[in-house]
Amino acid sequence: MDVVIVGAGTFGGSLAWWLAREGHGVTLVDQFEPGDRRASSGGETRLLRCAHGEDADYTAMARRARTLWRELEAESDEDLFVECGYAWFARRDDGWEAASEPVLAAQGIPAERLDVAEVAGLYPTFRGDGLAFVLLEPEAGVLRAERSVRTLAAQAAAHGARILRARAVPNGRAAVLEDGTRLEGDVVVWACGPWLGTLFPDLVTLKVTRQEPLFLDGGPAWRAPLPAWCDYDAGRWGSADIDGLGVKAAIDEDGPPVDPDAELTGEALTEPQVRAYLRERFPALGDAPLLRTHACRYEITPDTHFIAAPHPEQPGVWIVGGGSGHGFKHGPALAERIVAALKGRAELPPHFALGERPNSRNLRTRGDGD
Ligand SMILES: Cc1cc2nc3c(=O)[nH]c(=O)nc-3n(C[C@H](O)[C@H](O)[C@H](O)COP(=O)(O)OP(=O)(O)OC[C@H]3O[C@@H](n4cnc5c(N)ncnc54)[C@H](O)[C@@H]3O)c2cc1C
Repeated sequence: MDVVIVGAGTFGGSLAWWLAREGHGVTLVDQFEPGDRRASSGGETRLLRCAHGEDADYTAMARRARTLWRELEAESDEDLFVECGYAWFARRDDGWEAASEPVLAAQGIPAERLDVAEVAGLYPTFRGDGLAFVLLEPEAGVLRAERSVRTLAAQAAAHGARILRARAVPNGRAAVLEDGTRLEGDVVVWACGPWLGTLFPDLVTLKVTRQEPLFLDGGPAWRAPLPAWCDYDAGRWGSADIDGLGVKAAIDEDGPPVDPDAELTGEALTEPQVRAYLRERFPALGDAPLLRTHACRYEITPDTHFIAAPHPEQPGVWIVGGGSGHGFKHGPALAERIVAALKGRAELPPHFALGERPNSRNLRTRGDGD
């Protein structure tokens, strides 16, 4: 099978790696270098957790992806995943965290329910006000995002993929580059992140927003591999200082709408809310110096489920994206499923379809993804 993939983010890059290592012909095209900060997959880190409330399918996909990221590490000799654990700060006994527990248990994914008092020892400073319990996923952690995306493309190339830097537009079954080159294959996949809605306005509805994780200087105590965290009902999340980048903290609400091609500025619009939360939960971080912000784009589908589906009118053309703030970790596992579907060996779930997905349940039971 010869496959053209436009878009070298986590979705397109994973697909290129998967197909190339199976021996298929792959051409991977991107307007930027793989790992560029303007892509939704850009930025230094992304969290990887398996808990998805009641949703067993995303839970299993995240776990499978963790295994595949480890395979990519072994194959490339790159250090991509920091297994620091992931702590869910549960405000209710019947919320997202409690719903996740039986799903994780049924799939044999380690998770421990901790008393709030036990959690104090996990962080240099911690206050558990307002929390009912904490759910710790000890085998979750943080992916080095840009490095992971670059590694996907590099390993795809090592297995024979051709990597091109160019902007493409769809033309029937082909991808046409700015210099007029027509790329055709048995399959052409458009994995274009926030740009998908512009490329396929009749088929894809995405809300593209500006998000801004903040990086704070917490000092040496926060440079250990402490668990990443999410206070789901409060819409706050973060991770300790990985690679000296600073403690990462963000609010989990959709930011202002932004054009996919707009320059992303570095101002810290959410700093007051982030600091207010840190003062309450991790008092020592409340006044930690701000090192920088790294704005990037969410591309959110109306129900926050991904898109992975064939074009309704162009045989062999596929559209993949709609990461909706939680797509990064899933890249290699979603690629595996798409390849199985291309070969007719498995079907993708209806909530990955194009257009309206009337029976899908929005994954967000509180706010945004993480
Ligand atoms: C602040 C922030 C925090 C996040 N945190 C997490 C997290 O903790 N965990 C998690 O799992 N997910 C997280 N996400 C979501 C995740 O990063 C995205 O869902 C995922 O990276 C989307 O990947 P993608 O491959 O679909 O898109 P992209 O990474 O945007 O890749 C698309 C690529 O297509 C290229 N392209 C587009 N149009 C064209 C064209 N016409 N021609 C050529 N090339 C083109 C682009 O240049 C780009 O490189 C976060 C996102 C943000 C913004």
